Amino acid sequence: MQILRRIDEPRALARTCKSRGERVALVPTMGYLHEGHLSLVRIARQHADRVVVSLFVNPTQFGPGEDLDRYPRDFERDRALCEEAGVDALFVPEAADMYPQGFSTSVDVHGTLTKGLCGASRPGHFAGVATVVAKLFNLCEPDVAVFGQKDAQQAAVIRRFTEDLNLAVEIVVAPIVREADGLAMSSRNVYLTQDERAQAIVLKKSLGAAVALFDRGERNTAAIINEAEDIVASAPLARISYVEIVDARTLAPVDVIERPALLALAVYFGKTRLIDNTLLPPTGVL
Ligand code: AMP
Repeated sequence: MQILRRIDEPRALARTCKSRGERVALVPTMGYLHEGHLSLVRIARQHADRVVVSLFVNPTQFGPGEDLDRYPRDFERDRALCEEAGVDALFVPEAADMYPQGFSTSVDVHGTLTKGLCGASRPGHFAGVATVVAKLFNLCEPDVAVFGQKDAQQAAVIRRFTEDLNLAVEIVVAPIVREADGLAMSSRNVYLTQDERAQAIVLKKSLGAAVALFDRGERNTAAIINEAEDIVASAPLARISYVEIVDARTLAPVDVIERPALLALAVYFGKTRLIDNTLLPPTGVL
Protein backbone atom coordinates (compact mmCIF):
# COMPACT_ATOMS: atom_id res chain seq x y z
CA MET A 1 0.00 0.00 0.00
CA GLN A 2 1.34 3.41 -0.95
CA ILE A 3 1.30 6.27 1.54
CA LEU A 4 0.78 9.54 -0.32
CA ARG A 5 1.57 12.66 1.67
CA ARG A 6 2.17 15.25 -1.06
CA ILE A 7 -0.98 16.67 -2.59
CA ASP A 8 0.21 16.08 -6.18
CA GLU A 9 0.69 12.34 -5.61
CA PRO A 10 -2.88 10.97 -5.79
CA ARG A 11 -3.56 12.64 -9.15
CA ALA A 12 -0.41 11.10 -10.64
CA LEU A 13 -1.46 7.71 -9.28
CA ALA A 14 -5.01 8.05 -10.66
CA ARG A 15 -3.71 9.03 -14.10
CA THR A 16 -1.34 6.05 -14.18
CA CYS A 17 -4.17 3.70 -13.17
CA LYS A 18 -6.54 5.18 -15.73
CA SER A 19 -3.94 4.90 -18.49
CA ARG A 20 -4.05 1.17 -17.82
CA GLY A 21 -7.83 1.20 -18.10
CA GLU A 22 -8.38 0.85 -14.35
CA ARG A 23 -11.19 2.54 -12.44
CA VAL A 24 -10.27 4.46 -9.30
CA ALA A 25 -12.42 4.76 -6.17
CA LEU A 26 -11.99 7.25 -3.34
CA VAL A 27 -13.16 6.76 0.25
CA PRO A 28 -12.77 10.04 2.16
CA THR A 29 -12.38 9.68 5.95
CA MET A 30 -11.14 11.57 8.98
CA GLY A 31 -9.32 8.46 10.21
CA TYR A 32 -9.60 6.52 13.48
CA LEU A 33 -11.08 3.86 11.27
CA HIS A 34 -13.74 1.36 12.26
CA GLU A 35 -15.79 -1.33 10.55
CA GLY A 36 -18.09 1.34 9.04
CA HIS A 37 -15.16 2.86 7.13
CA LEU A 38 -13.92 -0.60 6.12
CA SER A 39 -17.35 -1.47 4.72
CA LEU A 40 -16.99 1.56 2.43
CA VAL A 41 -13.62 0.22 1.27
CA ARG A 42 -15.19 -3.13 0.39
CA ILE A 43 -18.00 -1.41 -1.51
CA ALA A 44 -15.45 0.82 -3.28
CA ARG A 45 -13.62 -2.32 -4.36
CA GLN A 46 -16.83 -3.58 -6.02
CA HIS A 47 -16.94 -0.40 -8.13
CA ALA A 48 -13.29 0.05 -9.03
CA ASP A 49 -9.92 -1.65 -9.61
CA ARG A 50 -7.99 0.66 -7.27
CA VAL A 51 -9.10 2.07 -3.92
CA VAL A 52 -7.66 5.24 -2.42
CA VAL A 53 -8.58 6.13 1.17
CA SER A 54 -8.00 9.70 2.27
CA LEU A 55 -7.32 10.43 5.90
CA PHE A 56 -7.67 14.09 6.82
CA VAL A 57 -9.19 15.70 9.89
CA ASN A 58 -10.51 18.71 8.01
CA PRO A 59 -10.28 21.79 10.27
CA THR A 60 -12.75 23.87 8.25
CA GLN A 61 -15.72 21.61 9.01
CA PHE A 62 -15.34 22.03 12.78
CA GLY A 63 -16.96 25.03 14.44
CA PRO A 64 -15.55 26.99 17.39
CA GLY A 65 -15.89 24.90 20.56
CA GLU A 66 -16.24 21.64 18.61
CA ASP A 67 -13.86 18.69 18.99
CA LEU A 68 -11.16 19.42 16.37
CA ASP A 69 -8.34 19.39 18.94
CA ARG A 70 -9.39 16.18 20.65
CA TYR A 71 -10.67 14.28 17.58
CA PRO A 72 -9.20 10.75 17.96
CA ARG A 73 -6.16 9.99 15.80
CA ASP A 74 -4.07 6.82 15.38
CA PHE A 75 -2.20 6.78 12.11
CA GLU A 76 -0.38 3.46 12.62
CA ARG A 77 -3.62 1.65 13.43
CA ASP A 78 -5.37 3.23 10.42
CA ARG A 79 -2.47 2.27 8.18
CA ALA A 80 -2.60 -1.36 9.38
CA LEU A 81 -6.38 -1.57 8.91
CA CYS A 82 -6.14 -0.16 5.38
CA GLU A 83 -3.30 -2.51 4.51
CA GLU A 84 -5.33 -5.46 5.78
CA ALA A 85 -8.40 -4.28 3.83
CA GLY A 86 -6.42 -4.25 0.58
CA VAL A 87 -6.42 -0.47 0.12
CA ASP A 88 -4.07 0.54 -2.72
CA ALA A 89 -3.12 3.98 -1.44
CA LEU A 90 -3.63 6.04 1.69
CA PHE A 91 -3.67 9.80 1.04
CA VAL A 92 -2.68 11.77 4.15
CA PRO A 93 -2.40 15.45 3.26
CA GLU A 94 -1.25 18.21 5.62
CA ALA A 95 -3.66 21.01 6.53
CA ALA A 96 -1.02 23.55 5.46
CA ASP A 97 -0.95 22.04 1.96
CA MET A 98 -4.74 21.77 1.70
CA TYR A 99 -5.26 25.35 2.93
CA PRO A 100 -2.15 27.38 2.09
CA GLN A 101 -1.92 31.03 3.01
CA GLY A 102 -4.39 33.04 0.96
CA PHE A 103 -6.90 30.21 0.52
CA SER A 104 -10.25 32.00 -0.03
CA THR A 105 -12.70 29.64 -1.74
CA SER A 106 -15.75 27.86 -0.41
CA VAL A 107 -18.19 25.42 -2.01
CA ASP A 108 -21.48 26.44 -0.44
CA VAL A 109 -24.62 24.39 -1.11
CA HIS A 110 -27.65 26.60 -0.44
CA GLY A 111 -31.24 25.89 0.55
CA THR A 112 -32.96 23.09 2.43
CA LEU A 113 -30.08 20.64 1.97
CA THR A 114 -27.92 22.59 4.41
CA LYS A 115 -30.42 24.73 6.35
CA GLY A 116 -31.98 22.09 8.62
CA LEU A 117 -30.84 19.03 10.60
CA CYS A 118 -27.14 19.39 11.46
CA GLY A 119 -26.89 22.55 9.35
CA ALA A 120 -29.09 24.44 11.83
CA SER A 121 -26.68 24.04 14.74
CA ARG A 122 -23.38 23.71 12.84
CA PRO A 123 -23.11 26.86 10.69
CA GLY A 124 -20.38 26.53 8.08
CA HIS A 125 -20.02 22.79 8.63
CA PHE A 126 -21.34 21.69 5.24
CA ALA A 127 -19.41 24.39 3.39
CA GLY A 128 -16.30 22.95 5.07
CA VAL A 129 -17.27 19.43 4.04
CA ALA A 130 -18.23 20.34 0.46
CA THR A 131 -15.06 22.37 -0.05
CA VAL A 132 -12.72 19.66 1.19
CA VAL A 133 -14.54 16.90 -0.74
CA ALA A 134 -14.42 19.01 -3.93
CA LYS A 135 -10.67 19.43 -3.35
CA LEU A 136 -10.24 15.70 -2.74
CA PHE A 137 -12.14 14.96 -5.96
CA ASN A 138 -9.81 17.29 -7.88
CA LEU A 139 -6.67 15.91 -6.25
CA CYS A 140 -7.56 12.22 -6.52
CA GLU A 141 -9.62 12.26 -9.75
CA PRO A 142 -11.72 9.25 -8.74
CA ASP A 143 -14.28 7.64 -11.03
CA VAL A 144 -16.38 6.79 -8.00
CA ALA A 145 -16.48 7.95 -4.37
CA VAL A 146 -18.15 6.10 -1.49
CA PHE A 147 -19.84 7.78 1.49
CA GLY A 148 -21.88 6.40 4.39
CA GLN A 149 -25.61 6.87 4.96
CA LYS A 150 -24.57 7.44 8.60
CA ASP A 151 -23.92 11.04 7.51
CA ALA A 152 -27.03 11.23 5.33
CA GLN A 153 -27.13 15.03 5.07
CA GLN A 154 -23.46 15.08 4.10
CA ALA A 155 -24.12 12.50 1.36
CA ALA A 156 -27.04 14.57 0.03
CA VAL A 157 -24.90 17.73 -0.02
CA ILE A 158 -22.08 15.92 -1.83
CA ARG A 159 -24.45 14.46 -4.42
CA ARG A 160 -25.87 17.96 -5.03
CA PHE A 161 -22.60 19.85 -5.61
CA THR A 162 -21.16 16.97 -7.64
CA GLU A 163 -24.11 17.31 -10.00
CA ASP A 164 -24.25 21.12 -9.84
CA LEU A 165 -20.54 21.47 -10.66
CA ASN A 166 -20.67 18.72 -13.35
CA LEU A 167 -17.98 16.70 -11.61
CA ALA A 168 -17.38 13.33 -13.29
CA VAL A 169 -17.54 11.35 -10.06
CA GLU A 170 -20.14 8.67 -9.37
CA ILE A 171 -21.41 8.95 -5.79
CA VAL A 172 -22.23 5.72 -3.95
CA VAL A 173 -23.93 5.79 -0.54
CA ALA A 174 -23.33 2.77 1.71
CA PRO A 175 -25.53 1.41 4.54
CA ILE A 176 -24.93 2.22 8.22
CA VAL A 177 -22.73 -0.30 10.05
CA ARG A 178 -23.70 -0.85 13.70
CA GLU A 179 -22.25 -2.37 16.87
CA ALA A 180 -23.88 -5.62 18.03
CA ASP A 181 -26.30 -3.67 20.28
CA GLY A 182 -27.36 -1.33 17.48
CA LEU A 183 -25.25 1.78 18.15
CA ALA A 184 -24.05 3.18 14.82
CA MET A 185 -20.27 2.94 14.61
CA SER A 186 -18.52 6.29 14.89
CA SER A 187 -14.99 7.45 15.66
CA ARG A 188 -16.63 9.69 18.29
CA ASN A 189 -18.04 6.71 20.25
CA VAL A 190 -14.71 6.55 22.14
CA TYR A 191 -15.66 9.81 23.87
CA LEU A 192 -18.60 8.11 25.65
CA THR A 193 -18.35 7.16 29.31
CA GLN A 194 -19.51 3.66 30.26
CA ASP A 195 -22.93 4.95 31.34
CA GLU A 196 -23.34 7.10 28.24
CA ARG A 197 -22.34 4.19 26.00
CA ALA A 198 -24.90 1.92 27.69
CA GLN A 199 -27.66 4.51 27.26
CA ALA A 200 -26.73 5.38 23.67
CA ILE A 201 -28.62 2.30 22.45
CA VAL A 202 -31.81 4.40 22.71
CA LEU A 203 -30.92 5.98 19.37
CA LYS A 204 -31.30 2.76 17.39
CA LYS A 205 -34.26 1.73 19.58
CA SER A 206 -36.07 4.96 18.75
CA LEU A 207 -35.42 4.49 15.03
CA GLY A 208 -36.70 0.91 15.28
CA ALA A 209 -39.89 2.05 17.01
CA ALA A 210 -40.40 4.73 14.37
CA VAL A 211 -40.01 2.16 11.58
CA ALA A 212 -42.50 -0.14 13.36
CA LEU A 213 -45.03 2.71 13.56
CA PHE A 214 -44.47 3.51 9.89
CA ASP A 215 -44.90 -0.18 9.00
CA ARG A 216 -48.24 -0.18 10.88
CA GLY A 217 -49.38 2.58 8.54
CA GLU A 218 -48.63 5.78 10.47
CA ARG A 219 -47.76 8.59 8.04
CA ASN A 220 -48.13 11.60 10.33
CA THR A 221 -44.58 12.73 11.07
CA ALA A 222 -45.47 14.42 14.39
CA ALA A 223 -46.72 11.08 15.75
CA ILE A 224 -43.60 9.23 14.61
CA ILE A 225 -41.29 11.94 15.94
CA ASN A 226 -43.08 11.91 19.34
CA GLU A 227 -42.59 8.17 19.63
CA ALA A 228 -38.89 8.43 18.74
CA GLU A 229 -38.33 11.39 21.11
CA ASP A 230 -40.00 9.57 24.02
CA ILE A 231 -37.65 6.63 23.64
CA VAL A 232 -34.56 8.83 23.42
CA ALA A 233 -35.76 10.84 26.44
CA SER A 234 -36.05 7.60 28.46
CA ALA A 235 -32.23 7.73 28.72
CA PRO A 236 -31.47 10.19 31.53
CA LEU A 237 -28.12 11.21 30.02
CA ALA A 238 -29.55 11.97 26.56
CA ARG A 239 -30.11 15.57 25.45
CA ILE A 240 -31.90 15.85 22.10
CA SER A 241 -30.47 18.28 19.55
CA TYR A 242 -33.09 17.33 16.96
CA VAL A 243 -35.37 14.51 15.81
CA GLU A 244 -36.77 15.34 12.38
CA ILE A 245 -38.43 13.75 9.39
CA VAL A 246 -37.53 15.26 6.04
CA ASP A 247 -37.96 14.45 2.37
CA ALA A 248 -35.17 11.96 1.52
CA ARG A 249 -34.20 13.86 -1.61
CA THR A 250 -34.56 17.55 -0.72
CA LEU A 251 -34.24 17.26 3.10
CA ALA A 252 -37.17 19.67 3.42
CA PRO A 253 -39.36 18.97 6.51
CA VAL A 254 -42.53 16.97 5.82
CA ASP A 255 -45.78 16.71 7.81
CA VAL A 256 -47.23 13.64 6.11
CA ILE A 257 -45.04 10.98 4.51
CA GLU A 258 -46.08 10.45 0.91
CA ARG A 259 -42.65 10.00 -0.66
CA PRO A 260 -39.46 8.36 0.68
CA ALA A 261 -38.48 10.19 3.86
CA LEU A 262 -35.51 10.33 6.20
CA LEU A 263 -35.86 10.25 9.98
CA ALA A 264 -32.67 11.81 11.30
CA LEU A 265 -31.63 12.58 14.84
CA ALA A 266 -28.78 14.15 16.76
CA VAL A 267 -28.45 13.57 20.50
CA TYR A 268 -25.87 14.74 23.03
CA PHE A 269 -24.52 12.42 25.68
CA GLY A 270 -22.46 14.78 27.81
CA LYS A 271 -20.33 16.73 25.33
CA THR A 272 -20.54 13.99 22.68
CA ARG A 273 -22.97 14.57 19.84
CA LEU A 274 -24.16 11.36 18.15
CA ILE A 275 -26.15 11.20 14.92
CA ASP A 276 -28.19 8.37 13.43
CA ASN A 277 -30.97 7.95 10.89
CA THR A 278 -33.26 5.62 9.00
CA LEU A 279 -35.12 5.89 5.76
CA LEU A 280 -38.92 5.55 5.84
CA PRO A 281 -39.59 3.05 4.35
CA PRO A 282 -36.32 1.59 5.67
CA THR A 283 -35.69 -0.40 2.50
CA GLY A 284 -35.10 2.77 0.47
CA VAL A 285 -31.74 4.00 -0.76
CA LEU A 286 -30.46 7.50 -0.26
P1 AMP B 1 -15.69 10.11 9.07
O1 AMP B 1 -14.32 9.54 9.20
O2 AMP B 1 -16.50 10.00 10.33
O3 AMP B 1 -15.70 11.47 8.45
O4 AMP B 1 -16.46 9.17 8.06
C1 AMP B 1 -15.93 8.87 6.79
C2 AMP B 1 -16.98 8.16 5.97
O5 AMP B 1 -17.37 6.97 6.65
C3 AMP B 1 -18.26 8.98 5.78
O6 AMP B 1 -18.73 8.81 4.45
C4 AMP B 1 -19.19 8.40 6.79
O7 AMP B 1 -20.56 8.54 6.45
C5 AMP B 1 -18.78 6.94 6.76
N1 AMP B 1 -19.18 6.27 8.00
C6 AMP B 1 -18.94 6.70 9.27
N2 AMP B 1 -19.52 5.86 10.15
C7 AMP B 1 -20.15 4.90 9.43
C8 AMP B 1 -20.94 3.76 9.76
N3 AMP B 1 -21.20 3.44 11.03
N4 AMP B 1 -21.43 3.00 8.76
C9 AMP B 1 -21.18 3.33 7.46
N5 AMP B 1 -20.43 4.38 7.07
C10 AMP B 1 -19.93 5.17 8.04
